[in-house]
Amino acid sequence: LVSRENHDSRSVVSVRGVPIGGDNVTVIAGPCAVETPEQTLAAARMALEAGASLLRGGAYKPRTSPYAFQGLGEEGLKILSEVRTETGLPIVTEVVDAADVELVASYADMLQVGTRNMQNFALLQAVGDAGKPVLLKRGMSATIEEWLMAAEYIAQRGNLDIVLCERGIRTFEKATRNTLDISAVPVAQSLSHLPVIVDPSHSGGKRDLVLPLSRAAVAVGADGVIVDVHPSPESALCDGPQALLREDLAELRDLAGTLATLN
Ligand code: PEP
Repeated sequence: LVSRENHDSRSVVSVRGVPIGGDNVTVIAGPCAVETPEQTLAAARMALEAGASLLRGGAYKPRTSPYAFQGLGEEGLKILSEVRTETGLPIVTEVVDAADVELVASYADMLQVGTRNMQNFALLQAVGDAGKPVLLKRGMSATIEEWLMAAEYIAQRGNLDIVLCERGIRTFEKATRNTLDISAVPVAQSLSHLPVIVDPSHSGGKRDLVLPLSRAAVAVGADGVIVDVHPSPESALCDGPQALLREDLAELRDLAGTLATLN
């Protein structure tokens, strides 16, 4: 179902009227985690400044340590929905448990499945049933074939509104958080009709790498980028070192705008 075979053209996925795919380079931006209403609204305003048409933000955070901030849960979803009303930005947010899909889908415009859950088949089937577009991140140790098979689990439930997201893979290299597999973008696009975007924040793990990796993503033909921004990264409860600052936003906006015209 997700294979390029039997599909003459590549798909465009619409998230509350915002297209991902086709001639667009869609920017999704926002805080890694929803912390407070003020922080989320400030990050959403930064997202608008960066040319974003969708707001990201985690209310359920899949953290390596059980002692790290786990997200605000439904309270975070309510904040996201208030910020959507305030800014008009549709919401992309992660769901980590099949039992929460209905609740998260009642607030979200797009459901995100994170790298750690790419092969959580019960979750994939549940998001497939939820009637919302899905952002499927590549497992950090998954092959492209495994990633496409994970997408197939969602598609099999009758939901073809799937966007693939390359977010870096585990390699021997320690200089970056994960290694952005830039070649995965054209490879996945050649094998599948689904749009493919890149997460330069979670792959590089460092603010200084986000714009160069975004440039690479757009140059290689990605359909968009999903980027962390935060009004005060030094006090962020999650992944502050990779969040873009205000002074970086114009460059991201220009980058997506300029390269979109080249694609
Ligand atoms: C995220 O986007 O908030 C996230 C946790 O990403 P990943 O699943 O790629 O680590």
